[in-house]
Amino acid sequence: MRADLHAHTTYSDGSPLPEMCRAAEAAGLDAVGFTDHLIVVDDDFGRRERYHLVETYERRREAIERFRPRTDLTVWDAAEVSYVADAEAETADFLASAGFDYTIGSVHFAGEYDYTTAAGYADASEAERRAAVERYVDAVVAAVESELFDVLGHLDLPERMAPLRGHARRSDYERVAVALSDSATVPEINAGRVHDSLGRVHPDPAMLDAFLERDVSFVLGTDSHSPSESERRVPALRDAAVERDVPLADFEPAVGR
Ligand SMILES: [Zn+2]
Ligand SMILES: [Zn+2]
Repeated sequence: MRADLHAHTTYSDGSPLPEMCRAAEAAGLDAVGFTDHLIVVDDDFGRRERYHLVETYERRREAIERFRPRTDLTVWDAAEVSYVADAEAETADFLASAGFDYTIGSVHFAGEYDYTTAAGYADASEAERRAAVERYVDAVVAAVESELFDVLGHLDLPERMAPLRGHARRSDYERVAVALSDSATVPEINAGRVHDSLGRVHPDPAMLDAFLERDVSFVLGTDSHSPSESERRVPALRDAAVERDVPLADFEPAVGR
C-alpha cells in the first residue's frame, strides 16, 4: 500500500493537514489524498453548514500547495462528495469548475434516510430496515452510473450501524459489482470502522467474491480523521488487502489537473 486515497482535514471533520501528512509519512505511505466532505446542494439533515468545502476548497488548495515543498509525500487535493440523485447536474458543474485531483462519491443519505447515524433505526421493523438498505443500494448504483466520481466510497455504509447491519444481501453486492464493471468509477476498500463498531473493512470481505468475479479492482482509503487513526488503519488496511489478494486499480491522479 503506497497511497491512502481517503483522509479528512480540518476543512471538514478531520485534523490539521500537516499532522495528517506527518501521520501518512510515519505509516510509510508515498501519497495521501485529502477528501474533505463536500455537499453541493443542501440536504434535509443540515450537514452543509458543517461541511462547507464548496466555499473553502480554494483556501484548502492554497494550504496544500504551501505544504507540498515541505514533504516528500504526493499530496492530492480531492473531495468526498455526497451523492444526491436529483442534483447530478449541479454536482457535475461544480466539480468541473473546482478541478479536484480526483473525487470520491459517497452515499451518506438518500431520500428520507440518513446513513451516518443509527438514531433513526432503533425502533424500525425488520422490513423498514431492509427498505433503508435497499434504498442505499439503489443510490450507490445510481452514483456509479452517474459517472460523476473517480472513486466510489464505502459502498456498504449501512453496515456501520448495528440496526442496519446484516440487512444487505448478496444480490445487493452483485448489483453494485455489475454497475462497477460497466463504469470508470473505482470502488475503495474503506477502513473507516476497521477497529471500531464494525471491526472489518467496507465492503464486507465475505462479499468480495461478487466483485472479484466481475474483475472489479479497488483503491485503498483509511477514511482517517486523526493522525492516530491513520497510523493504525494503514497497516490494517494493507493486511486486509493482502489477506484477500484484492486486485488494486492502477489509479494515479495527476496533481493540479
Ligand atoms: Zn463518507
Ligand atoms: Zn470519509
